[in-house]
Amino acid sequence: MPRVTTAPRVVAVSEASPADRSGLLPGDELLSLNGRSPRDVIEYSLLVDEADLDLVVKRRGTGEPFALSVHKEHGEPLGAEVSSAVFDRVRTCDNHCEFCFIHQLPKGMRRSLSLKDDDYRLSFLYGNFTTLTRFTEMDLERVLTERLSPLFVSIHATDPDIRANLLRNRRGATSLRWLGALLDGGIEIHGQVVVCPDRNNGDILSDTLAGILDRYPTMATVACVPLGVSRFSTEGAMRPHTRAEAAEVCDIVDQWQQTFLSAIGRRMVFAADEYYVMAGRPFPTSETYEGFPQHENGLGMARAFEAFFGDESSALGVRPGFFAWVDGAPPLGYRAPRGISSGTPAPGGAPLGILTGEYGAAVLAPLVAELGRDDIRLIPVANHYFGGNIGVSGLLTGTDLTQVLKDEPAGHRYLLPDACLSQGRFLDDLTVDDLPHPVEVVATDGLSLRRVLDGPAPVERSAERPARVRVCMGAAR
Ligand code: SF4
Repeated sequence: MPRVTTAPRVVAVSEASPADRSGLLPGDELLSLNGRSPRDVIEYSLLVDEADLDLVVKRRGTGEPFALSVHKEHGEPLGAEVSSAVFDRVRTCDNHCEFCFIHQLPKGMRRSLSLKDDDYRLSFLYGNFTTLTRFTEMDLERVLTERLSPLFVSIHATDPDIRANLLRNRRGATSLRWLGALLDGGIEIHGQVVVCPDRNNGDILSDTLAGILDRYPTMATVACVPLGVSRFSTEGAMRPHTRAEAAEVCDIVDQWQQTFLSAIGRRMVFAADEYYVMAGRPFPTSETYEGFPQHENGLGMARAFEAFFGDESSALGVRPGFFAWVDGAPPLGYRAPRGISSGTPAPGGAPLGILTGEYGAAVLAPLVAELGRDDIRLIPVANHYFGGNIGVSGLLTGTDLTQVLKDEPAGHRYLLPDACLSQGRFLDDLTVDDLPHPVEVVATDGLSLRRVLDGPAPVERSAERPARVRVCMGAAR
């Protein structure tokens, strides 16, 4: 079991909450809660659920730690937000995938972006993908006991040798045994296959999908996503898909969807939207995506965006999950509710420019054209910062946005998808305040964008999503 290295630190206290009434302050460290030191925010949430809490608190400038009692109803939120999701060490990844995007980041980026996690808790809390190569029997017991579901698992290949080669870790050959155990225990699992040309595409991809149907037919979904190759990649064999290879992935997924439908009554496997853009093909229909279970990972995001954009009643919103009830969890998990936030908008009635990545532009162009409004235009932003085949909006940087915006007129309104910001910062550490024009940050979904386009300048401020440098995604999105 990892050693507890830090105590939960309070970063915000809700007014009139039990924490507030008891005198808890931002900055306080919670050395123990009812005699326990939680390992992570999952355990923390269970502890603060109790009616009466005996805390040991360390407060800067007050010398020795002191005891603090909190009286509240059982299940009543404590009202203290803590700074981190994990208080012991994040379990780091021991793989060395050729396609790993973390290894393709430019030098000088902040250290936290280089953290290669392979931690089932972050999978549960944030939807990060885990390869299970560091998963243990004790982890399995905890996941099953505490029903930490859903989890997100990187598969890449079901052939043991091919998987071990892809992860460059011999444990990759055997760690999918945990996937079977988790499914047998009733845990909802969403999988992904990062498809790399000359490695696990073509027949190997077909074999992988056959292996999933054969051994893991109760998986919820499987995403086939393309690797991302930035200009900083040092892996000579890694290259973007050709158009023909992208079309082949679409065909393989389509064929296997029919097989899955016949065998288990649902499609289970989906190809990322980028494949249809790369192949120059229309996106599958909305119904094909069976409720958009992985739309946040770029599976059917275009169709979901289109549906939200055109019809508010069809909006999925953000599905409720752990963060809907956990008390004190960091607010930036991907399940956190999102809305519309604003920078300093130009006056209502000003022309609107929608800033987006190159893939986003492909999705938005027909939708914006249908509006027939000459006061709205798309502003595609090429990703020169990362280069390569990186075209998703979630990896837009302040540097590239600055280059584009400096040539744009003042007095217009500029809309920016929230997916490219984490705690108010772009991946290159710039903030929206560094941009040459004010921008309005809009939740990256069709409904939010449509509301801004149709309505007055927004005033509501919301939590932003973390920028989606999902390790194990190959191509972050
Ligand atoms: S892609 Fe994921 S599993 Fe592979 S090395 Fe990177 S962080 Fe680890």
